[in-house]
Amino acid sequence: MTPTDEGQAARAAFAAWASQQAAAPREPASLVTAVDRSAEYVGMLSTEIAGRRVGWKSVPANSRARISAPRIGIERIEAWDVEAVSLQQQSDHIAVCDLCAGQGRVSCASCGGIGKTTCKTCGGQRKMYGYAANGSRRLLNCTTCRGKGEVDCPDCRRGIATCHACAGEGRVQRWIELESWHRALASVHPEGLAQRFGWSATPPNDAIVRDGDVVADVERPHRLASTDLDPVLAQWLGVLAPPLATGERVARQRLRVVRLMMTTVGYRVGAQEYGAIFSGKRLLAPPADPTSAFARRAARLRALLVALLVGAALFAIFSLGRGFFYWSVPTLLSIGALVAPEPVQPPPPPPKPAPLLRDDFDSTLRGAGTGSLGTVRGGADAEKCEPE
Ligand SMILES: [Zn+2]
Ligand SMILES: [Zn+2]
Ligand SMILES: [Zn+2]
Repeated sequence: MTPTDEGQAARAAFAAWASQQAAAPREPASLVTAVDRSAEYVGMLSTEIAGRRVGWKSVPANSRARISAPRIGIERIEAWDVEAVSLQQQSDHIAVCDLCAGQGRVSCASCGGIGKTTCKTCGGQRKMYGYAANGSRRLLNCTTCRGKGEVDCPDCRRGIATCHACAGEGRVQRWIELESWHRALASVHPEGLAQRFGWSATPPNDAIVRDGDVVADVERPHRLASTDLDPVLAQWLGVLAPPLATGERVARQRLRVVRLMMTTVGYRVGAQEYGAIFSGKRLLAPPADPTSAFARRAARLRALLVALLVGAALFAIFSLGRGFFYWSVPTLLSIGALVAPEPVQPPPPPPKPAPLLRDDFDSTLRGAGTGSLGTVRGGADAEKCEPE
């Protein structure tokens, strides 16, 4: 693909992805501001592991078998240097049973050497409900333990059991057995990136090339060493090293390193710039991200819708409330009062008709001439001249 083709493919992948997002705009491709590509690497190490260890095995021997000694000691055996058949032959011998010290009998583990166990029928209660001879239901002695609450231990006689290691013979045949196993481990790093492509623990190269390029594929019939790889690849061994248990060795190891081109599509929603990463050759869409621009936009739109709905509901409730409020009798009266012409306030007592008084006073003055007496008289006249 040419860079232009890649850009177009990335825009198409973005448009397809964005159109499936909640609250996606009508033409998502128009939001794209940039397309960048970068390489990421996934390392995959498959390890075949072989394990070996040695241990004693034994079977009961005849009590008359002659005691013998092994020709080799287990502590000096290196499990990876021995062969199972010769090891068994060299170590095979007759020994006194360790478990019972050659006695053939041990203290019973089931009853702790007591020789009795709790009766299971009555749970040690000695009595049980049953029907008496006359048909009445009543507490009777437990028939299993005959009212004792315990029974003889089925695994021993008076607390002494036969030794299971030597079957009571007191002698065992022992040998050192070589145990071996195999297992496979696959390690991938980084795991999240590999999971995005749906790869199994050990994907075939055919599956890998759909998304990336296998830039290294090295396999050896032993543990991969830095000498098997160039220095850059050798760093993967430290990252991917599988944990081994005691007695385990690496039988075969294969390291693969895959280069994956990641395409970041920059886009703008509102005043904010965002980036969506499309993985590998197939431009796999980014996983659902609650913090993505579209998710946030959808959340904002949802919040707005909720606000509008809540507003509408409140308005409806308020209107309804007002309606009922208006329909009540006192309210109707209040409304009548409000709608009616301004209520007539009782008029404030009009100011004393001063001009009349003054006229009167003047006339009084005029009639009375001058002098304080005239003034007093005028005053008295004024009182008589109140409006009717
Ligand atoms: Zn017992
Ligand atoms: Zn019982
Ligand atoms: Zn024994």
